[in-house]
Amino acid sequence: MADLTKRTEMALLDADIRKTSFDEVALGYTESEAIAEAKRCLNCKNHPCVGGCPVGINIPEFIAYVANGDFASAYEVLSESTSLPAVCGRVCPQESQCEKYCVRGIKGDAVAIGRLERFVADWNRKNNKNKVSKPLPNGHKVAVVGSGPSGLACASHLAKMGYDVTVYEALHIPGGVLSYGIPEFRLPKSIVKYEIDALCALGVKIETNVIIGKTVLIDELFSDFGYEAVFIGSGAGLPKFMKIPGESLKGVFSANEFLTRINLMGANRLSSDTPIFRPKKCVVVGGGNVAMDAARCAKRLGADVKIVYRRTKAELPARLEEVEHAEQEGIEFLLLTNPVMINGDENGFVRSIVCRKMKLGEPDASGRARPYEIENSDFSIDADAVIMALGTSPNPLIASTTYGLETEKFGGICTDEVGKTSKDNVFAGGDAVTGAATVILAMGAGKKAAAEIDRVLNSK
Ligand code: FAD
Ligand code: SF4
Ligand code: SF4
Repeated sequence: MADLTKRTEMALLDADIRKTSFDEVALGYTESEAIAEAKRCLNCKNHPCVGGCPVGINIPEFIAYVANGDFASAYEVLSESTSLPAVCGRVCPQESQCEKYCVRGIKGDAVAIGRLERFVADWNRKNNKNKVSKPLPNGHKVAVVGSGPSGLACASHLAKMGYDVTVYEALHIPGGVLSYGIPEFRLPKSIVKYEIDALCALGVKIETNVIIGKTVLIDELFSDFGYEAVFIGSGAGLPKFMKIPGESLKGVFSANEFLTRINLMGANRLSSDTPIFRPKKCVVVGGGNVAMDAARCAKRLGADVKIVYRRTKAELPARLEEVEHAEQEGIEFLLLTNPVMINGDENGFVRSIVCRKMKLGEPDASGRARPYEIENSDFSIDADAVIMALGTSPNPLIASTTYGLETEKFGGICTDEVGKTSKDNVFAGGDAVTGAATVILAMGAGKKAAAEIDRVLNSK
């Protein structure tokens, strides 16, 4: 008899193969694996898992359909709440969201909700089951700034209510971080494109290469283009640096630049027009998903890679799964370690990075133990590239060109809990409001704002 306390394993691409390949690492469930995992769900009456999902997917209902082998109905349940199930099933930090509240998790493994969501979305895509019926137009026009998860979720929910929605995107490819940040081996770009194409089939228009705040101002979207409401989902794409000596040497990159060259411009392919530095010895500074992605990309370009992080493994903000995959691929973690200086040669190229050992003290404002430097503990690591993955903040362009749009000190746009900003009929959500967070929180904010836009425009 199957051990129902354990979740069904998912096959992975072999670690030796994936060190040199950008192919997807997690291979997904087969039909029989998905059914076996779905049968672990207890269909709890008060379904606590749903409360852990920012877009409120009816988890027990879609899982019950999977358990019965009715994958098409499972997909319909997902579609009621999310426009990006194949994406969320892959990159959501499920362990700290829906799965964290799963009753099965009390005495064993939580039901693998994310893997099941991914399975259903993939099954639907492979079987080409998308049935799109364009809703009747309701005569209202809304503009969305940014085509990341928050903008796409807002656009999708508005389009389903009959709004005429146009998404303006600064880059030449839509998707935000899903396209330019998260690498192919975690989130294949064909899947992002498929889910965005499904939105376009609903009637959402996407205009790329338009920088709102430069090409067109927010006020002009109302006065010249006739929009009645604007949602700002412009993300938090401005990288942070450490301000240590040597950061302007050749070979120091922000993780965002490094990842964008690979993910958006295909610089990992030798045939690409976009150049990329192929390091031999690369140090990545940081411990979040961005650091793991940058390190794993550098590994695939042929580098020996070390991750330097100033706290311990327990505090790494990255998803556990990503840390494990990085370790399997041979990436070394230097924990309780903090860079203090980068050294270069006479031509200005990075040659080494000097780090200091740290110890943990009392918790700081973030609730995590505060790291302290250990005196006389400096040591040097040979490196020809240093990638800074220290977090990002919202770009000030839109706030600085929009009269009356209030922002927080860190640059996030001020909103109430339903996404209303200080400016009439301007809404915002996702990383542009919170600073760097997660895909599903951004989607939840986009969905909430769509409901509020509908309420405001209808009450007029
Ligand atoms: P974004 O995804 O940043 O999208 C904003 C879009 O707005 C961009 O396309 C940008 O070009 C566009 N834009 C900006 N300014 C303008 C302008 N002025 N005019 C027009 N367009 C504009 N989260 C997870 O949940 N799981 C993960 O595994 C994960 N991994 C990550 C890995 C990396 C490398 C990064 C960088 C982030 C990761 N995140 C992850 C975080 C997650 O991707 C973000 O929280 C999420 O994408 C935020 O969505 P958003 O819509 O607010 O912004
Ligand atoms: Fe869980 Fe994310 Fe799916 Fe919601 S969208 S059910 S949080 S995996
Ligand atoms: Fe199923 Fe877990 Fe949700 Fe209960 S809490 S309905 S077991 S997924």
